Amino acid sequence: MTFAGTGLDRAAAQRTRPDWVTAQREEPAARALLLSERGIWMENGRVLLVRPRDSSVFLGLAAGVPVFATDLGDEEAVRGAPAGLREAATELPAEEAALAAYAASLLGWHRRHRFCANCGRRTERRDAGHERHCPACGTHHFPRTDPVVIVRVTDGARLLLGRKADWPERRYSVLAGYVEPGETLEDAVRREIHEEAGVEVLSASYVASQPWPFPSSLMLGFHAQADGGEPRPNDVELADVRWFDPSEVEDAAAGRGGVFLPPPFTIARRLIDGWLAAAA
Ligand SMILES: [Zn+2]
Repeated sequence: MTFAGTGLDRAAAQRTRPDWVTAQREEPAARALLLSERGIWMENGRVLLVRPRDSSVFLGLAAGVPVFATDLGDEEAVRGAPAGLREAATELPAEEAALAAYAASLLGWHRRHRFCANCGRRTERRDAGHERHCPACGTHHFPRTDPVVIVRVTDGARLLLGRKADWPERRYSVLAGYVEPGETLEDAVRREIHEEAGVEVLSASYVASQPWPFPSSLMLGFHAQADGGEPRPNDVELADVRWFDPSEVEDAAAGRGGVFLPPPFTIARRLIDGWLAAAA
């Protein structure tokens, strides 16, 4: 799964010790990924790795080598070129795409949480970049991951796909939505599919997950069985939603016909391809 599997030991027990983190940063082999407002910095199809700075956050150990991430802000790196994460996902080796996603989520969280949500004062970085602490009111803030259910709905023979109003014409995908407070994942699956398509889910089971660093979601993939009712887009989000026959999805997956599916690096596409393989 793209954006998953960094292969890092996050060293969660050791990274709470500032002296240990300093020693890791000073290791001659220590390296840092660079992210700026323009994206992840790359060189020759790989992530650009340079010496970490004092401001770098610690990501983990890669076969014993300390790996950090540096936020360049509006600065430029001395070499390479920046790329958006979607572009990087298709160009980088899998482990490096996962590293880029991890770094982007963590650095993005720091950028958006400079002030305490409880009292409004400036917060300080702790735990090698895995916590922010408010010295004024004592609140500890931890990096957030927002759960999203993404659901492959079938009536046994057909697959439910929808098109968001702001997507390119003829692009379709499985439906997704944020989990709300007080919901189980299964509740969120039932509610989302009912809200967006007017279809009743009878049962749902978990398939797989994907970190989704736009900016900090976790996509939780489900397979759901529905009663086969007639879908209708009853949410302002969707322009269209309908059942697709396997032959129509197969054509779309092969780049034939008039329908476009999500790119191969997404869990959405993995869910769709998995359904096709099972239907074949
Ligand atoms: Zn505070």
